[in-house]
Amino acid sequence: MIATQEAFVAQAPDPLLARLLDAAIEAIGTNADLLGDLDRAIGDGDHGLNMLRGFAAVAGQRDDLAVLPLAAALDAMGKLLVMNVGGASGPLYGSLLIAMGKAAARDGASVATILEEGVAAVKRRGKSDRGEKTMLDVLVPVQLAWAQSCREGLAPRDALERLRRAAKEGLDSTRPLMATKGRASFLRERSIGHLDPGAFSSFLLVDATCRAFLEVEP
Ligand code: ADP
Ligand code: MG
Repeated sequence: MIATQEAFVAQAPDPLLARLLDAAIEAIGTNADLLGDLDRAIGDGDHGLNMLRGFAAVAGQRDDLAVLPLAAALDAMGKLLVMNVGGASGPLYGSLLIAMGKAAARDGASVATILEEGVAAVKRRGKSDRGEKTMLDVLVPVQLAWAQSCREGLAPRDALERLRRAAKEGLDSTRPLMATKGRASFLRERSIGHLDPGAFSSFLLVDATCRAFLEVEP
């Protein structure tokens, strides 16, 4: 089932991993204050610092991670996030990447499968799903958008643009929701009207990843 997008990802040049890491590190670095502000509104205010700590650890290992095979890089990055992000989001992002790495290690695993298994691991770890005002409101639509693009045989550039749109729409969808998971759920109705900080960090990471791919897409 090698669709155009899958072939594109498989043939991407080596420095791509370095570019992906740099894009993610930069996106978190430049938006940490905003993530903190969002978490101050409906949580305890630490999401920016948590993510900054995690991605500082990733930045510290950047050169070693960039030369690993994809599966090993995802696994190592997931473990770094578990150890360094903390809060609720550390184990959740860790589960995402570790499960993606496990899927990627299997022969012939498609990106669609890798994403599906990563998102499923977050759902299991968080005992949560889309619609509860969490990072899953970005991750689930992104995963579904990729699967749909593969089914439709969309050109890589269009598929990546669709992912970016899905991430942004997923983020925006959290504003009117009432949180039913995580600290924001303690606020009940008062969580309505705010963007979810974890959805914002997921949006940033998806958007940065897509932009890094778009730079090399022919
Ligand atoms: P903490 O809530 O422990 O302070 P963070 O502030 O780093 O941790 O992360 C908060 C984010 O984690 C939330 O905005 C939400 O997106 C995500 N989150 C929290 N609990 C869950 C859950 N059960 N399932 C999915 N995501 C969750
Ligand atoms: Mg917090």
